[in-house]
Amino acid sequence: MGMTCNEYRQGPPAGNEAAKAHLAQCADCREFDRSWDLLREYPAIEPSGGFFRSVRRKLQPAVLRFAAPLAAAAAALLVALLLTHPAPPAAPAGPVVTEEERELVENLELLQNYELLRTLELVGENGSPLIEDKK
Ligand SMILES: [Zn+2]
Repeated sequence: MGMTCNEYRQGPPAGNEAAKAHLAQCADCREFDRSWDLLREYPAIEPSGGFFRSVRRKLQPAVLRFAAPLAAAAAALLVALLLTHPAPPAAPAGPVVTEEERELVENLELLQNYELLRTLELVGENGSPLIEDKK
């Protein structure tokens, strides 16, 4: 007999006798009702004009943290491909990578990462790139 907590919480019409009876003997549902009352009292939250902009600004460092390792992985892959397929027509004994060449390639990777970070940082608020023209 009587109504279950689920039935009560799924919204019986206010003033319903069965609902009142249930509430009278169920502390859990009284608590449940009070939570809803508190929520209703809470002022409605409207995002201000600058809200999305500030969210985006806060997200940007996270995006950079995410993008940098990706760029490094992509650059490493590229370097690996270059090292395994150098295809030098004059080299008879296959790919030989000197210390100098390896250093150059490592610097290239750093340069590529730097370029990417710069690109990401220089994208404007409206999404348009602010990168200055290279001559
Ligand atoms: Zn109940």
